[in-house]
Amino acid sequence: MVKVVKFGGSSLASAEQFSKVGKIIHADKERRFVIPSAPGKRNAKDTKVTDMLYACYELVEADEDFRIPLMKIKDRYDTIINGLNLKLSLEEEFHKISDNLKQKAGIDYAASRGEYLNGIVMANYLGYEFVDAAEVIFFTEDGMFDADKTNRVLRERLESCENAVVPGFYGAMPDGTIKTFSRGGSDITGSIVARAVHAACYENWTDVSGFLIADPRIIKDPKPIKTITYRELRELSYMGASVLHEDAVFPVRKAGIPINIRNTNQPEDAGTWIVESTCQQSKYTITGIAGKKGFVSVNIDKDMMNAEVGFGRKVLSAFEENDISFEHMPSGIDTMTVFVHQPEFEGKEQAVISAIHRLAQPDSIELEGDLALIAVVGRGMKATRGTAGRIFSALAHANINVKMIDQGSSELNIIIGVSNADFENAIRAIYDIFVETQL
Ligand code: ASP
Repeated sequence: MVKVVKFGGSSLASAEQFSKVGKIIHADKERRFVIPSAPGKRNAKDTKVTDMLYACYELVEADEDFRIPLMKIKDRYDTIINGLNLKLSLEEEFHKISDNLKQKAGIDYAASRGEYLNGIVMANYLGYEFVDAAEVIFFTEDGMFDADKTNRVLRERLESCENAVVPGFYGAMPDGTIKTFSRGGSDITGSIVARAVHAACYENWTDVSGFLIADPRIIKDPKPIKTITYRELRELSYMGASVLHEDAVFPVRKAGIPINIRNTNQPEDAGTWIVESTCQQSKYTITGIAGKKGFVSVNIDKDMMNAEVGFGRKVLSAFEENDISFEHMPSGIDTMTVFVHQPEFEGKEQAVISAIHRLAQPDSIELEGDLALIAVVGRGMKATRGTAGRIFSALAHANINVKMIDQGSSELNIIIGVSNADFENAIRAIYDIFVETQL
């Protein structure tokens, strides 16, 4: 069996962290392919190497001297190399990088050097082969990830390796120039490599022991999630829970490879398993709670709306005309409500109102701002009676007024709208009823 292991920036921020990573890798022979991020923050005030590189490239573009910031980046690597007692010099590499920057090799090239150099250090430390991502991860002419070519080339290349380090975050355009994924993109590289080598699992090592049922900034010491399905994860990450890059799910999901989120600082913790499907029910009926503030509800009334064919389409075209995407659309008999993001909507509200009047001739339109949406997600809700009832009685007990309810037909989630001011209390009330009292 093969495992692909990806380590995030905080797992590789210092020599001390590197040695924890080394121990984890050597503890299991199946951990054959390693994807490193660039060195991250060593403490709250520190700067990630990737951010240092972006800042360095700003100087390049402004035709200013970038040598000192570049040397500071070299220092970060040298501190790691010396801390690990490696016989490795990045002198040559930094000369090359400096030359390429002088020739304005591009912001993506600059940012990608964080992972590239960390890959060299990691390969040297582990005694593994270094495979430059620019030779195995490809983008198409229009900048989209080229899954077919990548999968083919990567598979062939890694077939001949017993062990290898492939730096995360970047690949190459058809003309060979470097392109990165969006921020946090090493997660995607890990997933791509796992797919190419038919891994038994993709371990994603970070600084938390997986997903938590709720945001620890709101709930003190929330319980971890042991197993979550891809669909549940999508619902929760969409609503703001973030540990893994959203796009990292696609390559492994296609191949049915589970992802295991693990903690480099607590390797004994089992972490969270992200799977296609499972017969294991979560202990708590719900899998997780997440939410976001800052929505507006646009309430549209029209007598006999339900009998008017095309009414919904006309209303939604008013939003489309103004380039506003909607989040939710609960409806009544003669009313329809459209939830939109407040910052996106605010500057355009009058244009949208007049467009709805022009296109759909409603009786009235009312706006309410400063709303929050909370998603209560769980595959267990389908098989359990009374979940919605419990949520609403918990909210009523906490004196919270529910402004909107929306249950998807998959019965995987219930979305609740409350005012921004009630957001934290609502999450606490829901967490308490399902987790603390273990109903
Ligand atoms: N180093 C990159 C970033 O900071 C990519 C990654 O860490 O996944 O966004």
